[in-house]
Amino acid sequence: MSPSALPKRILIVGGGSAGWMTALMYGDALIKKGVEITVVESPNVGTIGVGEGSTALLKRYFDELGIVESEWMPECHATYKAGISFPNWSTRPGYESYMHPFWSMLDHVTLPAYIQNVHARQRGVDIDANPDRYFIASKLARQGLAPLPPESFPFHPGYGYHFDAGLLGKYLQKKAMACGVRHKSCHVTEANLDVAGRVASISTMEGETLEADFFIDCSGFSALLIEKALKTPFVSYADVLFNDSAVALPTPIGETIPTVTVSAALSHGWGWKIPLTDRFGNGYVYSSSFISSDAAERELREHAGVGDADVQARHLKMKLGRVAQHWNRNVLAVGLSQGFLEPLEATALYLTQTTAGLFLVYLEKGELGEQAQAAYNREVNGYFDGHRDYIVAHYKTNTRTDTDYWRANAMGLDKISDSLKRIFQTWIEGKDLGAEIRHQGIEHYYPVGSWYALLAGMGTFPQLGADARQPAESLAQIDDFTRRCVLNFRDHRTVLNEQVRMREAA
Ligand SMILES: Cc1cc2nc3c(=O)[nH]c(=O)nc-3n(C[C@H](O)[C@H](O)[C@H](O)COP(=O)(O)OP(=O)(O)OC[C@H]3O[C@@H](n4cnc5c(N)ncnc54)[C@H](O)[C@@H]3O)c2cc1C
Repeated sequence: MSPSALPKRILIVGGGSAGWMTALMYGDALIKKGVEITVVESPNVGTIGVGEGSTALLKRYFDELGIVESEWMPECHATYKAGISFPNWSTRPGYESYMHPFWSMLDHVTLPAYIQNVHARQRGVDIDANPDRYFIASKLARQGLAPLPPESFPFHPGYGYHFDAGLLGKYLQKKAMACGVRHKSCHVTEANLDVAGRVASISTMEGETLEADFFIDCSGFSALLIEKALKTPFVSYADVLFNDSAVALPTPIGETIPTVTVSAALSHGWGWKIPLTDRFGNGYVYSSSFISSDAAERELREHAGVGDADVQARHLKMKLGRVAQHWNRNVLAVGLSQGFLEPLEATALYLTQTTAGLFLVYLEKGELGEQAQAAYNREVNGYFDGHRDYIVAHYKTNTRTDTDYWRANAMGLDKISDSLKRIFQTWIEGKDLGAEIRHQGIEHYYPVGSWYALLAGMGTFPQLGADARQPAESLAQIDDFTRRCVLNFRDHRTVLNEQVRMREAA
């Protein structure tokens, strides 16, 4: 796009992770083309201060900006993440816990065997079909190994990160400001619309009026521009995802640092446990219709092993759903202002990065008309709804019957999307799930392997009639292969300490 067609001034409202992540991405791409980018952040409203796990996409964010891990990770107390484990969601023997791994080049060897064994298990063959047995990520996580092989090892596993959300925000701010993004500390009181209904400027409590050509709403759940000013409708997910609250608290970490997020089912929701270099972040995501905040905090304290100890807990409210249009007139909503899925698969920053990244492509191509806007909104809505379905599938396949919460979660299949209905139907009939997912065009939300890991990991095997002749791959060979692969990986803490030394030496 010719520089003259780009908006001259972009104003980002909000300085949380979403605001600074977008500011750095856009600053890096657009300031050299003459675009002025300013982040406005309220001195009175804090950031949400949670959000400590990522998907594998975050690596690409830093790679594209040329930021190496030994620079940002120590500063954000970050650790490596090989996947997420889900204990106590299923009560089926052998499937009381499973891990959703980040996928690796090495899985090309074991994934076909896994799928074959799942099919055999569906037809009554007595074979272990828990994904933990098959994938390198689960082995790394169990042994506390960093998912970083030596240079000489040609197969690289995908991985995500754990990090301190507050420190990550500060780090991104520092980098964005170093590349020329401006920062103003002021509280936005109002958005002023022009005759066409576009945002012309914002007014601040400090008495300023700030104009811009394009606005990015990163104001968190308050959604100041996208919802309050432009009245963009909100599509709630509350009919299929019941959790609306969370409570979080830290606990100490020892010398061994796991490479996995643990998302354990609790009485009325689930608890996360996220390892950072200096502490564990713990939290309980629950539904306030089923448990009070006091009872949830008590249960989390017990679960995290802190009891009555003097550890401060933070309580948060969550609004689950998405706006109907993430890009409306001259406003783009990014982060919690555009919507939120509960953090079961830690996808919020993924969606932030995807939303901002896709829009940058439109911006740079100069595709800013109504058709482009409609296509963009369809695409981002697809990401939100696709990720929602994968999360909903955890609840619908749970087999807990200990509380009304879990029983209610397993019901309501009529409320799930048609896409998820077809996935469940294909699974129950033992048909080709991969073909169904590809037919729906949804493998870029979650790949086929992730669906197998979830549905088989929960132990939801349909009764397809016994056929013990169904061929199964040898587990001994798989065990041997993954055992030998794992020999190439090193202790997590050792790798992280090495990063600190590299940073100090730089
Ligand atoms: C319980 C929980 C767990 C989570 N876990 C994960 C996870 O594991 N992984 C993940 O990727 N994400 C997770 N998230 C989501 C993650 O926290 C957010 O996506 C991320 O922090 C981005 O938030 P944000 O920047 O959109 O909003 P916020 O952090 O709320 O920032 C909002 C910004 O807007 C500013 N602002 C607000 N009002 C005004 C005003 N009037 N004037 C000027 N400025 C204003 C504030 O000052 C602040 O700077 C989790 C969220 C919750 C609730």
